[in-house]
Amino acid sequence: MRKWLALVVLALVALPAFAQQAAVPPTTANPFFEAWTTPFGVPPFAQIKEAHYLPAFNEGITRERKETDAIAKDPQAPTFANSLEALDQAGEFLDRVEIVFYGQLSAETNDALQGIAKEVAPMLSALNDDINLNEALFARVKAVWEKRDTLGLTQEQKKLVEETYKDFVRGGANLDANGKERLRAINKELSLIGLKFGDNVLKETNTYRLVIEKKEDLAGLPSGLVGAAADAAKNAKLEGKWVFGLQAPSIWPFLQYADNRELRRQILMAYVSRADHGDANDNKAILSKIAALRAEKAQLLGYKTWADFILDRNMAKVPARVYGLLDQLWTPALAVAHKEAEDIQAVIRAGGQKFKLEPWDWRYYSEKVKKARYDFDEEALRPYFKLDNVRDGAFYVANKLYGITFTERTDIPRYHTEVRTFEVKDADGSHLGVFMTDYHPRPGKRGGAWSGRYRNQYFRDGKDIRPIVVNVCNFSRPTGDAPALLSLEEVETLFHEFGHGLNSLFSRVHYKGVARVPRDFVELPSQIMENWVLEPDVLKVYARHWKTGEVIPSELIAKVDRARKYGQGFASVEYLAASYLDMDWHTLSQPREESTTEFENASMAKIHMMPEIFVRYRSTYFNHIFGGGTGYSAGYYSYIWAEVLVADAFQAFKERGIFDQATAKSFRTNILERPGTEDAMTVYVRFRGHEPSVEPLLVKRGLKEAPIPGMP
Ligand SMILES: [Zn+2]
Repeated sequence: MRKWLALVVLALVALPAFAQQAAVPPTTANPFFEAWTTPFGVPPFAQIKEAHYLPAFNEGITRERKETDAIAKDPQAPTFANSLEALDQAGEFLDRVEIVFYGQLSAETNDALQGIAKEVAPMLSALNDDINLNEALFARVKAVWEKRDTLGLTQEQKKLVEETYKDFVRGGANLDANGKERLRAINKELSLIGLKFGDNVLKETNTYRLVIEKKEDLAGLPSGLVGAAADAAKNAKLEGKWVFGLQAPSIWPFLQYADNRELRRQILMAYVSRADHGDANDNKAILSKIAALRAEKAQLLGYKTWADFILDRNMAKVPARVYGLLDQLWTPALAVAHKEAEDIQAVIRAGGQKFKLEPWDWRYYSEKVKKARYDFDEEALRPYFKLDNVRDGAFYVANKLYGITFTERTDIPRYHTEVRTFEVKDADGSHLGVFMTDYHPRPGKRGGAWSGRYRNQYFRDGKDIRPIVVNVCNFSRPTGDAPALLSLEEVETLFHEFGHGLNSLFSRVHYKGVARVPRDFVELPSQIMENWVLEPDVLKVYARHWKTGEVIPSELIAKVDRARKYGQGFASVEYLAASYLDMDWHTLSQPREESTTEFENASMAKIHMMPEIFVRYRSTYFNHIFGGGTGYSAGYYSYIWAEVLVADAFQAFKERGIFDQATAKSFRTNILERPGTEDAMTVYVRFRGHEPSVEPLLVKRGLKEAPIPGMP
């Protein structure tokens, strides 16, 4: 979940920062109308009040409109400098307002900020449309794009021309008047029915209740879950009973622990039949319409299918590559899942039962297998993971890899007393950026963990403006006498977000238009950092008991490793099946003849889906791909794509040493500094020497035995 949230926030903060240009201040009281003289130009948080945002947004929008109009109306012939570069630099005032506002909206929000967010959303969207549909502006971009090979541009400049041109074209700039009109109509309808799809899923999820009246039906359930079900019953005026629902914290532990097989069946069947009851909340016709409209839009814009349209901007590029990856993983995953099914069936038989394993039995019995084989308590790890030590462990890894240093500073403005600020210096002592941490939950902070920025890196007038980066998380607080102690998952999250942070800190691009990273590439810099968490050489630096200073015992780590490999067959199969379903819906090039149910069944039959496992999301509630916007349509695969990259990339460190300097240097230069300035696969191959192989991930997930060195 944290990875998904981080993506959303990355998208939110993938906004350019500001130049300290002289502005004529209409009011000296509003910090957005002034240059910032704070250390490193960090936003003067204490001086920025809610009342400052709206006037600043208005001013920023007015200025950006004027700036882009001026470019469109420039009497000079279009050049890279007066059109592309000028367009890239437009909107700096607005960028500075946006980056502070959206950072605060996520980390330190209140009703006033949320109100402002609703007010400015349509204003910003209208500005965006006005720029994208400005024909004179597009004509200038196109003129430069046509000559791009003859202008003596750098690789990065050429990429800026190509990306900007693509933005306009994908927005419909090349269509005739009829085409533009049809596109606008499709976009409008898609945005409305996408919202309806999501609303239906939400309604169906929230309406269902499994009401339990007899205490014996609670057998097997943990007491915390029973207590929550009793509270839910009270809220529903069903005092003395227990209510379970389809939300994650209720249904998944119920399926894991409830001894009553019939009740497990009921709740799981309710879950998988959401928005599929032929009533007002049914999503079958809606998703059919969405798939058809997307196919039409893609073809209007010159792509064969919606998946071709989406993937054109991703590392995968074409549907065949996504299917190729899924196929490579599917066969071994299915084999392991069948093996897991046999193990579970044996446990059922050993318990004196004769029934055949069904989907509502899987989680329940696999929990029993796991406990018997790998019994250990994750909570036993916590005393070794003191928050400050873990953070220093992440700093240590970055120092060993890249030579960079982190020094705490107390003179830099902060937006909350719990924020800590560090100056980051490169190996040669030069300033690299500012890094802030904001690690504990607060009422004004949303859930999850993410890496954001209060200023992006960019060049202005030949000067390299360095970034201001923040990691925002919701980690366990100190309790009693103990300092903040993290769970293993929290430790991995800290390293993960720190990886996104390093990506931002190392950035060295000249144009904001090339700072965008493809969705199936952006999790590489973050996920890879998680690999150093359990390395013995790293553990001995940071994982020390907070009271005794003892290094975490290696037997404990070995247990973690073993327990984590169990159940990967099931997890891989249910995830991969959903990825296939997503791709099948979005590679349609002509109207279907089957019903949505027949289509889904055929999609699952084609991959020989096993009947003991349900696809992770059936079509009628697959919100990632059908609910509002484009979301993860033709993109659900990207989670595993990133995992393949990470496992393969870390293999390079495994082969040459986890702190090998040449490998680290190559990773920094190719992957971290300028990932958006070239084709993602090109930079990956330059780092790794070959395209990513799926083998390391198969081994990591326990779907394949590691090759034994020296064996044929
Ligand atoms: Zn992430």
